Amino acid sequence: MSKVILKTSEEIELIRISSLLVGDTHAEVAKHIRPGIKTSELDKIAETFIRDMGGIPSFKGFGGFPASLCISVNQAVVHGIPGNYEIQPGDVLSVDCGVFKNGFHGDSAYTYLIQDEQIEDKKKLLKITLECLEIGCTFAAPGNRVGDIGSAIQKHAEKHGYGVVRELVGHGLGRELHEKPEVPNYGKAGSGPLLKPGTTICIEPMINMGTKAVKTLADKWTIVTADAKPSAHFEHVVAITEQGTEILSSFLKIEEEIKKNEYLVSI
Ligand code: MG
Ligand code: MG
Repeated sequence: MSKVILKTSEEIELIRISSLLVGDTHAEVAKHIRPGIKTSELDKIAETFIRDMGGIPSFKGFGGFPASLCISVNQAVVHGIPGNYEIQPGDVLSVDCGVFKNGFHGDSAYTYLIQDEQIEDKKKLLKITLECLEIGCTFAAPGNRVGDIGSAIQKHAEKHGYGVVRELVGHGLGRELHEKPEVPNYGKAGSGPLLKPGTTICIEPMINMGTKAVKTLADKWTIVTADAKPSAHFEHVVAITEQGTEILSSFLKIEEEIKKNEYLVSI
């Protein structure tokens, strides 16, 4: 698809349903995160939940990806494949989830921090990355351009000395998981495609504690930081409407589960 596909308000409501189901799936996963659990077990919990709710995991089989969740631990930025890895205290766990339901996708990501001593630097990375997402969402307003979003995200991350990943970007979303426009987390204000009402995009800052440089592991999926320092990733689905900006996904249920889970750190 080479053009931005504008959505009707009815279509935006269907994207909201899929996006909220993604949030519910994250919350279900968050209940089970603890040291010793395998990332493959979390993936199974997510897939079962999505299918029980009448959805289809968007990522499973997408480009050959073998799982329902991307779980990227510590220096892994995105696209980590769930497997036999057992979660450890102090891990930074980025979980990305997509759901297809009623003909439309939802796609959002949340990064968890497992309780440990000496986690202040990691907690700050998560907090600033979440702020980057929130700031990016406020710039996703009708009449703005895609570059306004990336510019705002980049400024906030770099102000704290963090690296903004260049190789991976946010995207339009609808009947396809990845549509136009690309939504970089860097760039120049006032540049790029105009954000017209009916545009639905995923804003997803991927912020590294150290260098912005990344590399791909031998599994051909997992992207890791070049300096092996941790990375964080948060993602929302956002609709640009005549009325303004609407965030279609939600972290509310996830944050409730984090508060209840003694192994997880609230940001
Ligand atoms: Mg995405
Ligand atoms: Mg995602």
